[in-house]
Amino acid sequence: MVVRGPLIRIRYTSISLPDTLTTLVPGKVEKGETGWSALPAECPSEEQISLVDGAGITSGTRIYTDGSKTEKGVGAAFCVWSGQNIVYRWLAKLKDYNTVFQAELLALKHAADHATSLPHQPITILVDIQASVQAVANPKSINTTAREIYKSLITNKHIHISWIKAHVGYDGNEEAYRLAKEAAESDRNLLSVKAPISFLKSIFKKKMTEDWQSDWEDEDTGRSTFNLLSRVSTQLCYWKREKILFFTGHGPFPSYLKRFNLATTENCLCGNTNGTPLHYATECILTASLHMTKPAQQHELIWFRNVASNKGSRLKIQRLLHRLNDFQQRFRIIP
Ligand SMILES: [Zn+2]
Repeated sequence: MVVRGPLIRIRYTSISLPDTLTTLVPGKVEKGETGWSALPAECPSEEQISLVDGAGITSGTRIYTDGSKTEKGVGAAFCVWSGQNIVYRWLAKLKDYNTVFQAELLALKHAADHATSLPHQPITILVDIQASVQAVANPKSINTTAREIYKSLITNKHIHISWIKAHVGYDGNEEAYRLAKEAAESDRNLLSVKAPISFLKSIFKKKMTEDWQSDWEDEDTGRSTFNLLSRVSTQLCYWKREKILFFTGHGPFPSYLKRFNLATTENCLCGNTNGTPLHYATECILTASLHMTKPAQQHELIWFRNVASNKGSRLKIQRLLHRLNDFQQRFRIIP
């Protein structure tokens, strides 16, 4: 959530990244396009870019494309079939931060470029990812590669793109899949493709979390909470109200209320000079039936952690807080 603002500005207004972040971003980052990629009247027809399964297309020149992302890398590939023979293969390895969607579109772009270099004849490019076909068919796609393919199709009406169902044994599709995987897992030189915006987002999030963590460790305040939650996280932490009041110390304790002039003294009603959560949980005569064993001073942090992680202890804390609230209402500690 925190990174949403900067990301939008970078995507749409091309501002430079702050110096502290440029060193983290490898090369250029994909930029979103806006507006129409071509005049609506020029749009390729639904027949030229088809989402109907092209399994029936088995003759003429066909180009099968695929992208692959495995633990060993990211690959893109296409293979050209003429009749029942493979007449050309192309494969490339991308960088680890590139997405499989980028690989799919890159394969499609290179396939389209290759098709335009072939003698003029009907050619069908078969793609097994519907999202890629939809991106290319959308004249307002924000993806630069999809727009380039779209424009190429406007001037090359003999080139068609069709979706084809994946992994159902079509030879061309299986071969493209195999080639893309081979490229992903090979040691070949890496093709430079701009990093996806999602990668920038993950870098921002990582950097933000590291800075946040470092601030949290260096803070002077909130140390009782730090004792229990030492790692920052964007995940919500579900603590019951009583747990928050007790472990942060921000509850009905004279030690806390005095800080904000909500009580005249930080002494407990029992006469103890320190009305802290620990006092009530371990030694105050007013809460004797709810006591837990008092820790030695050097073990206090561990004691709080143990209490927080133990269900029985947490229940005692709940009852303790209810008792303290009763006292306060009865003796009007709060002015
Ligand atoms: Zn007391």
